[in-house]
Amino acid sequence: MAERPEQEIPEQEIEVLLDEQRAYPPPEDFRRQAWIQNESIYREAAADPEGFWAAQAERLEWSRRWDRVLDWKPPFARWFVGGKLNASVNCLDRHLANGRGDRPAILWEGEPGDRKTLTYADLHREVCRLTNVLRGLGVGKGDRVAIYLPMVPELPVAMLACARIGAPHSVVFAGFSAQSLRDRINDAEAKVLITADGGHRRGGIVPLKAISDEALENTPSITGVVMVRRTGEDVPMVAGRDHDWAELMEGAADTAEPEEMDAEDVLYILYTSGTTGKPKGIVHTTGGYLTQVTATARAVFDLKDSDVWWAAADIGWVTGHSYIVYGPLALGVTQVMYEGAPDTPNRARLWSIVERYRVTCFYTAPTAIRAFMKWGTEHPAAHDLGSLRLLGTVGEPINPEAWVWYHREIGGGRCPVVDTWWQTETGSIMATALPGVTTLKPGSATHAFPGIALEILDRRGERVEVGGGLLAITKPWPSMLRGIWGDEERFRETYWSQWKDIYFPADGAHRDEDGYFWVMGRVDDVLNVSGHRLGAAEVESALVEHEAVAEAAVVGRPHEIKGEGIAAFVVLRESASSRDGLAAELKAHVARAIGPIARPDDIVFAADVPKTRSGKIMRRLLRDIAAGKAIGDTTTLADPAVVQKLREEYGDED
Ligand code: ATP
Ligand code: MG
Repeated sequence: MAERPEQEIPEQEIEVLLDEQRAYPPPEDFRRQAWIQNESIYREAAADPEGFWAAQAERLEWSRRWDRVLDWKPPFARWFVGGKLNASVNCLDRHLANGRGDRPAILWEGEPGDRKTLTYADLHREVCRLTNVLRGLGVGKGDRVAIYLPMVPELPVAMLACARIGAPHSVVFAGFSAQSLRDRINDAEAKVLITADGGHRRGGIVPLKAISDEALENTPSITGVVMVRRTGEDVPMVAGRDHDWAELMEGAADTAEPEEMDAEDVLYILYTSGTTGKPKGIVHTTGGYLTQVTATARAVFDLKDSDVWWAAADIGWVTGHSYIVYGPLALGVTQVMYEGAPDTPNRARLWSIVERYRVTCFYTAPTAIRAFMKWGTEHPAAHDLGSLRLLGTVGEPINPEAWVWYHREIGGGRCPVVDTWWQTETGSIMATALPGVTTLKPGSATHAFPGIALEILDRRGERVEVGGGLLAITKPWPSMLRGIWGDEERFRETYWSQWKDIYFPADGAHRDEDGYFWVMGRVDDVLNVSGHRLGAAEVESALVEHEAVAEAAVVGRPHEIKGEGIAAFVVLRESASSRDGLAAELKAHVARAIGPIARPDDIVFAADVPKTRSGKIMRRLLRDIAAGKAIGDTTTLADPAVVQKLREEYGDED
């Protein structure tokens, strides 16, 4: 079996077996205080999407108003044509001008326990100084700057300084290897690298400067390196190339003119996490992106001055770009930023942070929620989580069982849980509940955000009203990607070649009778059993529903009769007592929950499943293991040892 193509389209429509009936209307006290309390927003936005988005854009500060809202020459969109603005001005200067400079912007906590508060005025000053530093190193409008930093305040400072100069940043997640960093620097031809001596992770130190030095052995475009001292380790500095952040900042002036940027000037490049192989440099521009991240942060997370926001994500991924840096800062909210691992020094770390800072709105990923479930309820129970009023999730389909657990154990049964579907490519949230309006169904991303044309189509492009098919976005949206850096052909091929002038996200989904969207995950993770197309996520959800199971990853493997058999890799909860007879029980459980067709052929008990560095299940590698063949590209894998162990475990099965 050859490596599957990135964008395989199923021959048959995807079948829907899982039947989730639980429903959660918005709590009345939440609805009454929410920014959006009325469903009419959907009708208004649908009647005039451009007018809707223009009204959202009005909330930003523009130095020149746009002439036209949208210019659409598929697959190229230009939003707010002729408009001028600067993202750092929108995130900083205008709050100072409105007398909000003393508001805390970032309540930062380091993994070892050190703490720092930066007000908007502090952040503005640091950004201006770094702007001057970078300009002094020759960085100008249009130059690319690579950023390889841990979750320290210098990371948003660096991004906003780039935005102030108009130099697109390319943030590389600090868990990536030297080779991955080098590839990304070279692809973007970055001029300067901003890094740190090291970062704290799980009680240890990630030697970022050493990794950077290795990466920089073959990066001809780099002329300078700025290094933050975070860990205080002794690190070699290359004369003429490397500079100490603090030394440069000391002599820098506290104010810096922002560059006036066109709405369509590039704000940043971000490489996708690489679940599918060769990373793509996704390009985002300024005006439309800032409009949609701000509109969604406000409407979906319901953020107000009284809130303490926490997106427990890494800025190295798009979630952090949009909902730690640009959205919340443009709104002027107060947020928590945490440097380290959720289980250091113990498994209650996140909950101690929620209690300490009185966090009100919390956003994380299903992979984290499943880890919390696996660790047990005693950890959240040890802290006062009474400040929370809203929860969110993003990154993978959330199993209904994990959703319900999150709602009950973290949200105390009173917080709406917004399941938000979007991608690096979409820049902002595309499908989601509006917490004051939508009746929630666990596992469903519910509806398209107002003004977004989200549909389910079949292979031929026919609309599917009720049932399974492929997600499609049929009209341009403000924060859509404007291309893949340096590769127009791949951009057209990857996203625009399935149907004419319609964006293809490569996710499968279905829609129920009430019009709710249920995203089933990547199209290439769909199983084909005896001619039936099943979503891997559905079988996984059925498994996770079983009390002994914390996490499951399901893939197809060659089967003589059925075409594809189902192999399920299962991680047990720590409370699970015994494995005796459990495999048979789990097979029967799945058959009962969603039907005999979905009964797994193999159950493999595993200590862990392979994940991307962003924490998503990497089914591509599991397919290789289950098919008994050589393992594909593992450069984006978080922990290669997991794969080796799994192969041994799979080999042990009969
Ligand atoms: P790559 O594109 O490099 O393979 P990736 O797709 O994992 O990596 P992201 O852009 O971070 O990188 O993730 C977007 C994808 O995550 C979506 O296409 C979808 O498959 C999944 N996803 C995100 N949010 C949700 C959600 N709420 N429900 C279901 N799936 C989701
Ligand atoms: Mg993707």
